[in-house]
Amino acid sequence: MFFISWGSRGGWAEVGPAGLRHCAYCDKDSYFTRMVAYTVRHIYWIFRWVTGKTPYLVCGNCGAEHADDAADEAHKDVTKAIPAWDRRGWLVGLGGIGALVATGSIAAAADRQSDTVSLAAPHVGDIYEADLARLMTHPDAPVMYSTLRVTKVEGAMVELEFGRTYYNDWRGVDRDVNAGEANSEAYYGPEREKVPVSALQKMFEDGTLHDVRR
Ligand SMILES: [Zn+2]
Repeated sequence: MFFISWGSRGGWAEVGPAGLRHCAYCDKDSYFTRMVAYTVRHIYWIFRWVTGKTPYLVCGNCGAEHADDAADEAHKDVTKAIPAWDRRGWLVGLGGIGALVATGSIAAAADRQSDTVSLAAPHVGDIYEADLARLMTHPDAPVMYSTLRVTKVEGAMVELEFGRTYYNDWRGVDRDVNAGEANSEAYYGPEREKVPVSALQKMFEDGTLHDVRR
């Protein structure tokens, strides 16, 4: 199940020494430590940002918490004390999305590369997602997204049969191919056409062939 995970959690970090001070709780002088309490808000725990930074002081003797009377001067140290992962998590989140986009582009490039290899050496049964309108002098529709299937390979020539059904959206073709329908003989009409193997790459480059399924 897909759901958006968001929320917040409290965090705290040590800022640094705050000098020798008197504690009203234990009535002793001791070295105090400056701390900061903050809230990390997040979406999916990836995009994070910090709100509600509250510096406070802790007695070195009894651990009692005191209001920070010098919080303004310590402002920079307070910010630095919060872990970068909490402070700048949203940058990491953006980086992650960038990486996903890059991975998608590499996958698409690899797919094109493998299509090119398949087109250079066709096999009987290869299915090409194709715009049949580009292959006809008088097409029935401006775009006719369908399939071509390799029925024979003879030397430098390849014989293709044509899908009977066409769509105006590649998704229709993808669906038929993925469902295995484009593998059945009934999916194709009776006419066959021979084209040079060398023409396939050109058809791929000009967009007549959209995808190769082997
Ligand atoms: Zn104390």
